[in-house]
Amino acid sequence: MTLPRLNESPKYEIIIPSTQKSIRYRPFLVKEQKVLLMALESEDQRQILNSIVNTIEACVIDPVKTQELTTFDVEYMFTQIRAKSVGETSDIQIKCKSCEHMNPIKIKLDDIKVDMPKIDNTIKLDDKYAITMRFPKYASSIETAVNGKTSTEQMYSMIANCLDTLNTDDEIINFADEAKEDILKFVESLTSAQFEKIVSFVQQMPQLKHDVQYDCEACGEKNEAVLQGMQDFFS
Ligand SMILES: [Zn+2]
Repeated sequence: MTLPRLNESPKYEIIIPSTQKSIRYRPFLVKEQKVLLMALESEDQRQILNSIVNTIEACVIDPVKTQELTTFDVEYMFTQIRAKSVGETSDIQIKCKSCEHMNPIKIKLDDIKVDMPKIDNTIKLDDKYAITMRFPKYASSIETAVNGKTSTEQMYSMIANCLDTLNTDDEIINFADEAKEDILKFVESLTSAQFEKIVSFVQQMPQLKHDVQYDCEACGEKNEAVLQGMQDFFS
């Protein structure tokens, strides 16, 4: 007799935050979990990030271009797929602001949302030029995490990845068509005031977010905390 293949059919739906498109997925299985665990054990940033994207690719049934996904899309999708695969909750520890006691907190992964700010993605540089911005793709975050030597270099690289087009009245230049070193030279040619506007956009990038309120089990202090980004949700 041939052994049956279990759990191959899609069961759940998820909305991709950046596109608001709904796609179907199945939970990840032991074969995918094994690859994820091996990546985590390696402590190699590129391997971990790649295995997260590969897991999403394996579990999503509808066509999705993973290289087009933003960082927060990938983090949100992975958190939700994990919720249906490993467990609906995650146990983490949060330090009390008053006595520093580590409190065990149970997070319902379904409650985690992506905070989508309403921000204008066009930045006027001067009378002639305007820039349109975009949120960085996950693939470029992998590159930044792996190749950036210092946090300053990582920040410049991240900013370069967020530039979409440079517009004048009669021309649109796609940053994607330009060489990375030319983009960095362009960024360096900006005034501090122009640069600040770009940094401000990048700082408002959507993130996984969840508010937590709890009373410290040691001293009774009322605590409020905001969890942000995927690493805050798993320990
Ligand atoms: Zn306390």
